[in-house]
Amino acid sequence: MKVEFLLKGHLATYSNCYGILTDKAAIVVDPGKYTTELKDFLVSNADKTRLILITHAHYDHIGGALQLREETGVKIAIGKNEEFALSDMAYNLSGRFTPAIPAFNADYTIEDEEEFTVGDVTIKAFELPGHTIGGMCYLIDDCLFSGDMLFYQTVGRVDLPGGNITDMKESLDRMMWLFDDEVKVYSGHGEVTTIGHERKYNPYLR
Ligand SMILES: [Zn+2]
Repeated sequence: MKVEFLLKGHLATYSNCYGILTDKAAIVVDPGKYTTELKDFLVSNADKTRLILITHAHYDHIGGALQLREETGVKIAIGKNEEFALSDMAYNLSGRFTPAIPAFNADYTIEDEEEFTVGDVTIKAFELPGHTIGGMCYLIDDCLFSGDMLFYQTVGRVDLPGGNITDMKESLDRMMWLFDDEVKVYSGHGEVTTIGHERKYNPYLR
């Protein structure tokens, strides 16, 4: 499995969009804006099972999803308690920092602890609220796509729509229980890290 940055540190929030590629799967995680590179990634892998996978519905993680789906036909998946925000500008914050994102729906909604496959990839989903109401983290092999829950030596904000400090603390505790030190963390913003590094050095996990 190959994980690459399709967009690294884009928009004013420096958000990340990842591409996951295997023999039989091509997945885009959190397309915060539309680019032809993102489209090319999906089009050039049309022989594989493809998916647009979203961790949470803030504008800088979903801004490109609708146009990507329209131009490639690739379906969109998001947590079932987060889906409403794809069509809620007050919650997804589009219109405030970027042009408004037209309301759209997901094709699939995912539940906590759901396990599903895309081609030859098995994805384990965990609903971890705190940054948003229904934000998800996705574990694929030893790679965790953590959205805005966990970053390199910091954690996500709780002061944006959907944020809740009590939920955040519980979710971070749960993450530390769920994932081994070796798990690589591909965050919604910033550098790649590991659970072990964060367990040791992240001031919010002490
Ligand atoms: Zn966010």
